[in-house]
Amino acid sequence: MPPANYTLNLETELQTTATGPNDQPSDPASPAALHMPFDNSYARELEGLYARSNPAGSPAPRLLRLNRELADELGLDADEMSSAAGLAVLAGNAVPAQAQPLAQAYAGHQFGSFSRQLGDGRALLLGELIDRCGRRRDIALKGSGRTPFSRRGDGKAALGPVLREYLMGEAMHVLGIPTTRALAAVATGATVQREQLLPGAILTRVAASHLRVGTFEYIAARDDQALLRRLADYAIARHDAALAGTPDPYLGLLQAVAERQASLVARWMGVGFIHGVMNTDNMTISGETIDYGPCAFMEHFDPEAVFSSIDTSGRYAYGNQPAIAQWNLARLAEALLTLIDADGEPAEQRAGAVVQAFAEHFDFHWTTVLRLKLGLDDASGGDRALADDYLTLLRRHRIDFTLAFARLADAAQGNNTPLRTLFGGAAAALELWLKRWRERTLAIGKSPDELAAALRSANPIYIPRNHHVESALAAAVERDDLAPFERLLRVLQHPFDEHAADSALAEPAPAEQTENYRTFCGT
Ligand code: AMP
Ligand code: MG
Repeated sequence: MPPANYTLNLETELQTTATGPNDQPSDPASPAALHMPFDNSYARELEGLYARSNPAGSPAPRLLRLNRELADELGLDADEMSSAAGLAVLAGNAVPAQAQPLAQAYAGHQFGSFSRQLGDGRALLLGELIDRCGRRRDIALKGSGRTPFSRRGDGKAALGPVLREYLMGEAMHVLGIPTTRALAAVATGATVQREQLLPGAILTRVAASHLRVGTFEYIAARDDQALLRRLADYAIARHDAALAGTPDPYLGLLQAVAERQASLVARWMGVGFIHGVMNTDNMTISGETIDYGPCAFMEHFDPEAVFSSIDTSGRYAYGNQPAIAQWNLARLAEALLTLIDADGEPAEQRAGAVVQAFAEHFDFHWTTVLRLKLGLDDASGGDRALADDYLTLLRRHRIDFTLAFARLADAAQGNNTPLRTLFGGAAAALELWLKRWRERTLAIGKSPDELAAALRSANPIYIPRNHHVESALAAAVERDDLAPFERLLRVLQHPFDEHAADSALAEPAPAEQTENYRTFCGT
């Protein structure tokens, strides 16, 4: 077991704060009247990888939204969670008896350069709940005040980014993409100083775990073999239990993370999602999407699309995401290296081969995603070329990615007009491609209606379009009007069902608005 001041000895940043890793919190919040049956394996098993810390509390909390369905999934009583006692917990004013609030330590490569000390600077893990399906889920507050890892930050979150994360996470979830989710959004009643004063808020985040590539990098950088093994065993128990007791579980863990990330990034790209800040501290071991800071959805298809104001080199552009995921996996491989057996060949080579193989795995998943998007549920050798040629058309003519696939359903039923309208002056090129696609779909043996149904279940009509997200958040922040947020959320919860009343939400923004659109890190 590491000494209690393990990290304090190593990190000067921490000396400016009141508490250090594994110290007792200096300012205990009041106990909650609410029963939440937390079971805290992270606190129990990973001493040396966190600092106990308490939420700062909110002066005038107001529940903006509770995710009742998710509360129920977690075995919580939604009515109780939205009561005064529940709000006190969600606002950080009370801590349930079985919670053990802590800030997790992690490191990370940010835009390629290594920071050995990041950690939860504005988040706290309250503890873990076992949900109705028996899955262990982290319950964390984001924006709940300073922690020993806050460095120069205020530990707070502004309302806009909190609502953005809520919306994005729920949208991704219903699109079938693994993601952390939002249990609640609470207005704190305090203001947060950013470029201007903004209303403060707290998001309650639910995750399969908050283990990141950066969690492993944190220990590897400190050369603590025992803790590294403990973390890897913990990750295996939590996410890849079948690997326990196999001959080389740590190489297996790397493989499993690579496989999940290959699938995840392919799914992101299948809905036009650009994460925006794929630093290693924002890449999970679980394979869930995490941290909806400067993320955005692409409108016209452009592999170079990037919206984040800080991503000036396009490192995290739409089409770079697979290469970056692979780069991040190489960092995980390095961190795990000392645990991997040299089995005939050096550990470097064995881990390197897993990282190399990511490209192939990604390609497999991406082809699968594209095939489904074209309504092809069997496999044929020419599918990838067919899909790539469609993407080339979309790129050349700057066609909206989402609608270009969604409108294939109409074409399947003999109505090319919506697609032709979308393609405008490029309709002739479209027709040539449609002819090839029709021939290919005939081989599946589906009726036009069956094909259309398959296409409609694979291709959303509604995604969180940037201009709609921004205007919903602006209404909440500037006018305290949550109605546009609620409406957008409601529509995004049924992304495949088209309703005439919501047709405006399916439309792309005017081109000039997209050109100038920039996202900012969600702090
Ligand atoms: P992110 O880019 O959101 O993944 O955050 C990177 C790092 O900065 C993490 O260690 C965060 O905890 C920390 N951080 C971001 N915003 C704040 C804030 N307002 N106060 C303290 N720490 C922060
Ligand atoms: Mg982060």
